[in-house]
Amino acid sequence: MNLLGLPQTELADYVVSLGSKPFRARQLMSWLYKRQVGDIAAMTDLAKDFRAQLAAHAEVRVPEVIKRLDSADGTRKWLLSADSSQAFEMVFIPEVDRGTLCISSQVGCVLDCSFCSTAQQGFNRNLTAAEIVGQVWLANQELGFSPDDPRIITNIVFMGMGEPLANFRNVVPAIRVFLDDFGFDISRRRVTLSTSGLVPQIYKLAEEVNCALAVSLHAANDRLRNELVPINRKHPIAELLEACWHYLDEQNGRSVTFEYVMLEGVNDSLADADELARLLQHRPAKINLIPFNPFPGTDYRRSAMPVIHQFRDRLLQRGLIATIRKTRGDDIDAACGQLAGRVQDRTTIRLGAKSFGLQVHA
Ligand code: SAH
Repeated sequence: MNLLGLPQTELADYVVSLGSKPFRARQLMSWLYKRQVGDIAAMTDLAKDFRAQLAAHAEVRVPEVIKRLDSADGTRKWLLSADSSQAFEMVFIPEVDRGTLCISSQVGCVLDCSFCSTAQQGFNRNLTAAEIVGQVWLANQELGFSPDDPRIITNIVFMGMGEPLANFRNVVPAIRVFLDDFGFDISRRRVTLSTSGLVPQIYKLAEEVNCALAVSLHAANDRLRNELVPINRKHPIAELLEACWHYLDEQNGRSVTFEYVMLEGVNDSLADADELARLLQHRPAKINLIPFNPFPGTDYRRSAMPVIHQFRDRLLQRGLIATIRKTRGDDIDAACGQLAGRVQDRTTIRLGAKSFGLQVHA
């Protein structure tokens, strides 16, 4: 049993199943998440017998680092392996007032969004809850966590590989560990789940956890969104927005962030901005414009920066809140596909060449 996969209630059940008292779960969690100690033998306030029991049945295991990349601007990227045939990516983006960790929820993806390189690799498998939590644990370790300075990672975003709501079963317990006072203790506004729009799961999520929601909109009408985000054929925009407003109501949330990738000649005209404004005006919405990251084999191109600025300004004129996502870690972002190639050559591991995360809100 990998302890990192268990939120507090499940950990308490597990502890009881080993013959100990439920409150030991909190003690265990404070070793794991407050002190970043994974060695069960070192958890000295737990009874020796219990430690022996735990050590016999449980472990703390994090994904293995295949490759690290450091950008000149401080952004760091890790290529991680889940088992012998899988790999996925994680990115840390430091800023003056926060540190954002961008994590993956799946290896590959089934959703087939036309502008996303993860889609090209198809779907390998869901990450387990322990592998999702393990990314944050590992990042803390890599970034020099110490109990005196535990706040290196202040924000977590599910904007790496995969569709988190398609891995609901494992993502929800991981979020619980992120939010728990005895876990990473991150505020609910600083854990963001980004989804392409799995409507029934948005309703389910509203009942299960309390975290920020980002939605990959990318188009303001169904005709175009059907093409860019095919799940839209099943759950069209009107239905998706209903789910978003329901989510906010249930959670007392302030706003939903709508991601909008800027694709030259596809969705970046002022008429598109007007249509988007009509859709989201007077709604609790923030729009985050993402300059497209090209990847080998794609026909899409990134909109020119002046076009992106005009688009943003038009939204602002129409009274919307809109920001442009700042591109970070360009130098290692550019190396993303190459890195995958090199590792592939060496170890024949099948990798995603997705250039997802080296960007932050401007
Ligand atoms: N499956 C989730 C998480 C995806 S990654 C979702 O769809 O939201 C986070 C964001 O990166 C999404 O908004 C996604 O649409 C966007 N994205 C994917 N490929 C991209 C690319 N090549 N350039 C810029 N953004 C991209």
